[in-house]
Amino acid sequence: MCGKIRFAPSPTGYLHEGHLLSALYVWAASHKWNLQVHLRIEDHDRGRARDEYIRSIYEDLAWFGFRWDSQSIQSERESVYRRALESLESRGLVYPCFCSRKQLEEENPKSETGEIVYRGKCLVRREMDADASQPHNLRVVIPDKVIKWHDLRLGDFAENPKLQCGDFPIRDRDGQWTYQFAVCVDDIDEGITHVVRGEDLRNSTARQIALMELLGRSTPPFYLHHGLITDPTGKKLSKREKAHSLRQDRDSGVSAEELLGRVCFKGGLVPSPAPLSLEQALSAALALL
Ligand SMILES: [Zn+2]
Repeated sequence: MCGKIRFAPSPTGYLHEGHLLSALYVWAASHKWNLQVHLRIEDHDRGRARDEYIRSIYEDLAWFGFRWDSQSIQSERESVYRRALESLESRGLVYPCFCSRKQLEEENPKSETGEIVYRGKCLVRREMDADASQPHNLRVVIPDKVIKWHDLRLGDFAENPKLQCGDFPIRDRDGQWTYQFAVCVDDIDEGITHVVRGEDLRNSTARQIALMELLGRSTPPFYLHHGLITDPTGKKLSKREKAHSLRQDRDSGVSAEELLGRVCFKGGLVPSPAPLSLEQALSAALALL
């Protein structure tokens, strides 16, 4: 085995159909490219993570028959994130941002996707005596340059994170590490070579590559962003469907094979919702990689 892929759910709820589809792609990719699978629990948001959800991730995955080679949980990696922050700070690449949500909305333009593009107001202010006792997040100074990257399914991209989002937070106002920061530190530290995830996260890729470069990783992972579960009209999985957990189905007597078949059908992997074994479901996902 030469590489490593990760499956990285957040324990802010029970696993739903979208997670199962993503897991199928991740494990199928591990077969295709002969990769180890790392299970990462992304509980960086301590306010929303619950121990019960963490336990259920292990249980639900095992119930379907997924096996992994290693695992980690972000809440136990504080010292790793702190070291990464210090490395950025020592090079002057971090600054506190005191802007309120309202200020962020009013004072900055938005990207094509509707995201706020932070123009660096507090970077300028850094030289003045900003009061660090006031609530603030920490932002990373990202270079103003185009990041070229390749998606194994969607093709080539050339994006400038400075124009997509600007300098982005690596630690929030509550002192919690952000998703973007924790992911980059983990992908480096855990030796992740392949990232397979839903295409709703495609927009995060260029900024993650930029941050990983700042953290010392010059060769980014291979990326593949898979399609999402849609309803018959082609719309994304609704909030209500996301709230509906795999566990609820399981508790009401639905079998793993029935769930696998249903998810493969909704994800466009097979033409009918007939029950599938894990092996069959993985073959269906593999065919789309
Ligand atoms: Zn600011």
